[in-house]
Amino acid sequence: MSLKDNLDEVVSNINSAISKAGRRPEDVTLIAVSKTKPVSMIQEIYDLGVRDFGENRVQEILEKYDRLPSDINWHLIGHLQTNKVKYIIDKVCLIHSVDSYKLAAEISKEALKHSRTMDILIEVNVAGEESKFGVRPDDLEELVRSIAKLPGICIKGLMTVAPYVVDPEENRGIFVKMKQFAVDISKKSIDNVSMDYISMGMSGDYTVAVEEGSTMVRVGTSIFGERNYK
Ligand SMILES: *Cc1c(COP(=O)(O)O)cnc(C)c1O
Repeated sequence: MSLKDNLDEVVSNINSAISKAGRRPEDVTLIAVSKTKPVSMIQEIYDLGVRDFGENRVQEILEKYDRLPSDINWHLIGHLQTNKVKYIIDKVCLIHSVDSYKLAAEISKEALKHSRTMDILIEVNVAGEESKFGVRPDDLEELVRSIAKLPGICIKGLMTVAPYVVDPEENRGIFVKMKQFAVDISKKSIDNVSMDYISMGMSGDYTVAVEEGSTMVRVGTSIFGERNYK
């Protein structure tokens, strides 16, 4: 399979899930997760029309950034250390993985230095997995309320990394919960907070995520193939 075949298949699966759920195509964005993959492959996917790319390491965004077209929307999807915020603050369009006030405060500080507003998502650990980043559902509202008061930062929604499963149906309940968290927070009408984006769904489960309300799917392996971390 060529990269084009992979991409076509992912897009067609997303579109089927969108129609099945009676949603609008413009409400779902495909983020091609290009971590560990070379610039040449990213350029190929770009040439096929994709503009949103996801990376989980700051260093990797920095290495790729200048070698690729400037109209790419870079999404930081992985855990972000406070001391690295300054390197990407003017390069990414959305930080998906904010799960602490401390990190948000640093993003706020750096955003103000660059006279910009940084859009962020709050990462939720829905399944309560020990090994995962993300705020626990019980602490979500309090964290949203405190971060919302920071200048230079705008909360646009929620993100989760669901457990790795063989059958995507196993994650449906998690996606349903995420959608409900977003609806609940939306109802509180907190200043500076919208729940426009729900970032959920990866190669193994993105169709189910779309059926349950995902607005951003982060798909790596199904587009670029397996990753080699060596
Ligand atoms: C790597 C990664 C993805 C993509 O995973 P695939 O299973 O390869 O589609 C999505 N989200 C995050 C946060 C990731 O780190």
